Amino acid sequence: MSGKHSLAIFGGKPVRSDPFPRYNPIGDEEREAVLRVIESGDLSKFMGAWTEGFYGGPEVRALEEEWAGAFGAARAVSVNSASSGLVVALGAAGVGPGDEVIVSPYSMCISATAPLFWGGVPVFCDVEPGQYCIDPERLEALITPRTKAVVAVDIFGQPADFRRIMDIASRHGLTVIEDAAQAPLAHLDGRRAGTLGHIGVFSLNCHKHIHCGEGGLAVTDDERLAERMCLIRNHAEAAAGPRGEQDLTNLVGHNMRMTELEASVARCQLAKLGPLVERRRVNCEATIEKLTQIPAINFGGLRQGATHSYYLLPFLYDEAVAGVGRDRFLEAVRAELAPTAGREKEGVKLYGGYVKPIYWLPLFQQRIALGGGGFPFNTVPSVDYSHGLCPVVERLHLRELFCNDLMHAAMEPRDLDDVAQAFGKVWELRRHLGREK
Ligand SMILES: *Cc1c(COP(=O)(O)O)cnc(C)c1O
Repeated sequence: MSGKHSLAIFGGKPVRSDPFPRYNPIGDEEREAVLRVIESGDLSKFMGAWTEGFYGGPEVRALEEEWAGAFGAARAVSVNSASSGLVVALGAAGVGPGDEVIVSPYSMCISATAPLFWGGVPVFCDVEPGQYCIDPERLEALITPRTKAVVAVDIFGQPADFRRIMDIASRHGLTVIEDAAQAPLAHLDGRRAGTLGHIGVFSLNCHKHIHCGEGGLAVTDDERLAERMCLIRNHAEAAAGPRGEQDLTNLVGHNMRMTELEASVARCQLAKLGPLVERRRVNCEATIEKLTQIPAINFGGLRQGATHSYYLLPFLYDEAVAGVGRDRFLEAVRAELAPTAGREKEGVKLYGGYVKPIYWLPLFQQRIALGGGGFPFNTVPSVDYSHGLCPVVERLHLRELFCNDLMHAAMEPRDLDDVAQAFGKVWELRRHLGREK
């Protein structure tokens, strides 16, 4: 293993050619739960009117109770996705036209676009260079008299700096939504992710730690916010009158309800969450230890007082130390590895950057969201979406950060060794890769 041609990218024998194990947390418990619901004939028991069924059927209610208990929140409100969860949360917070909502540029785009559904304007806050969450140092300068809320994302599975975010928010009277979709069972100062802001949102989509196909939950200790979320997810316009609601703000309802089928699966999944996250943590700690022996690879580090639940495992790559661009280096590592069984088309899940900075999307560049006339961007005096707006996130995305999921709960020590060996091999032979990016 010395010459250029031993690298798989130049035709050499790859480190690993048989597929990695697939992560599939669904088993017999879920099958039995779904059958029970099917046999009952009640696949959903929601009613859009102000009746007993307004809060859903037995599986939905049991899931909400169990979820609230597991995360230490007073209330959990189930919805059909975390995207819906963010929308109901911002609706309950009263966001509307003319309001600004401070968001992260480095997340799934709904973390930043959710305010638009209420006519609110997203304002992007750059991220911390090592933890990748919105940077409290930059947050306060973005607050204006129009700022109504903040959406802070626990990106990759580590809680954002909620100590400082909540302090700033309380001084300015802002509602804080925690997007905890990637961070179930992570902690900050002994408190669970999802309970660090005023409302926390979780995802149960099929890529997350646990899933029920599609689904989400929003948790809060605030009864009023919980009830407003229940209204918005289920035809608030019909229920508000009979319920005697005084404040009709954003009580234009929708149908974002979860079915009994999904709730029954989600309950089984919740019972498995602890060991699944723990296994990921063990795998990630082993991988961090191995890969950071390579001088050009660093782990950004854990926030003081935080634990990580590792939806993805991010690393920092130092191109100057390596003498080879990040993307070229990763291309060579990918060539040494096999994809996941049953996921061959997706390729090896190891990639430079994460998502593009969200404000690069055509939606923000062209300022076309609701209707074609520039609404809601034209409801505020000025908002900046230019390239270069958040230099840290742009640098991370273009040159410094890389992510992988080669550490999920089905990966065995032997699999992790192969991943580390592939990185080690490419590091040793990197001079053959040339200097191209
Ligand atoms: C997955 C995810 C979402 C959206 O989840 P859905 O349930 O698919 O709507 C939102 N935010 C983050 C950070 C996510 O990872």
